[in-house]
Amino acid sequence: MTDLTDPAPDVATAGPLATARAQLATAIGILGYDDGMHAMLATPRREIHVAVPLRRDDGHVELAHGYRVQHNISRGPGKGGLRYSASVDIDEIRALAMLMTWKCAVVDVPYGGAKGGVDIDPRTCSSAELERLTRRYTSEIMPMIGPERDIMAPDVGTDERVMAWVMDTYSVNRGYTIPAVATGKPLAVGGSLGRATATSAGVVHIARATLADAGVGLAEVSAAVQGFGKVGSHLARLLHEAGTRVVAVSDENGGVRRADGLDVGALTLHVARTGTVVGFAGGDPVSNAELLALDVDLLVPAAVEAALDEHTAARVKARWVVEAANGPTTTAGDQVLADRGIVVVPDILANAGGVVVSYFEWVQANQAYWWTEPEIAERLEHRMRQSYASVSAVARAEGLPLRDAALVIGVRRVAEAHKIRGLYP
Ligand code: NAD
Repeated sequence: MTDLTDPAPDVATAGPLATARAQLATAIGILGYDDGMHAMLATPRREIHVAVPLRRDDGHVELAHGYRVQHNISRGPGKGGLRYSASVDIDEIRALAMLMTWKCAVVDVPYGGAKGGVDIDPRTCSSAELERLTRRYTSEIMPMIGPERDIMAPDVGTDERVMAWVMDTYSVNRGYTIPAVATGKPLAVGGSLGRATATSAGVVHIARATLADAGVGLAEVSAAVQGFGKVGSHLARLLHEAGTRVVAVSDENGGVRRADGLDVGALTLHVARTGTVVGFAGGDPVSNAELLALDVDLLVPAAVEAALDEHTAARVKARWVVEAANGPTTTAGDQVLADRGIVVVPDILANAGGVVVSYFEWVQANQAYWWTEPEIAERLEHRMRQSYASVSAVARAEGLPLRDAALVIGVRRVAEAHKIRGLYP
């Protein structure tokens, strides 16, 4: 039998799972929970590993590996994105599923945490190959998912098209249309207005509230955004519209900078044409490493895990780091930022706008009744402001960094659900 006093048996000691487990251990220490509760909260409730054979367009077959992890389902169905990336492995998916559990609890949506992934680079796939891959993966994990069990959403490397295929595959197999099995879908098949920009809009609400605590407005600051995908591109635009000087953005190919602020509209057109921010004529080249160390007020990692480790964190000049990505700061990086007095707004609060509007999409799908865009925007803003207020109140009252305060709220809500439900049998 597993030693329950060891909350992290047989897992990697570095990487996103180690970071997620270290964060949990900190929260458990603050909350004073016993080893049994710690072990239960550290361990995924269920996970499935599936072989995903993909027939390429030329007829040959390749094998990808797929995963779906339900970290915790005590507060409701599992909820979490689906990631397609060559670097996906089970520990990354476990870490992201755990973050989803705390995130859903912090913003108080009635979900547990889950995540899925396939170890494939979607840029190597034609549209037909992506569709076959998605449909095969979905049918392999069918027993795990469903509107009352576990609900998908887009993440790195997937988009609303992929969610439509997930929804269709699930529905065809069940014999009727079930839109609530996935969120982040196109509007035509039960998507929600405002979902495509929800994560980025939520980051902006949280950034605004964080700066307001220091008496600073978004229009008074400069920002650098790492990542120009679904989250980073809308975020750069929304910050720009809020009056923030967006002085640098990047993607995996490199970045661009302009001291008096990039023309984000023109940059977006350039990306639509070329597929990358690199080569944009309205700015100078900047590397990803340089971007993280720019002299800006606000730094927003919106790309991948572990961008801010002890080395990159030591060079950060920003006053605030707002984590739009999941797990962008390692444990050591977090310590360096804290020692240097840099305020870090954690992922489980900062980027929760996506899951909040996913929740709205699921509610609408379940009711078959659709809200207007202003209704969604207003409800999102309210939920994000309320969540920020409760996290910053705990941070002030307990003298904690925002990350620990958010974790304490999230972990406590999940633990309370466990305690109230009791242990079966
Ligand atoms: P995406 O695939 O649409 O975009 C990822 C972006 O990061 C791309 O611009 C890519 O070029 C860039 N990138 C990849 N590797 C990089 C590297 N090494 N250095 C710099 N840039 C790099 O993904 P997304 O949906 O925008 O997700 C970005 C982050 O936000 C992820 O951590 C994801 O988990 C998190 N997130 C996404 C959502 C959502 O609704 N999509 C919600 C919450 C959190």
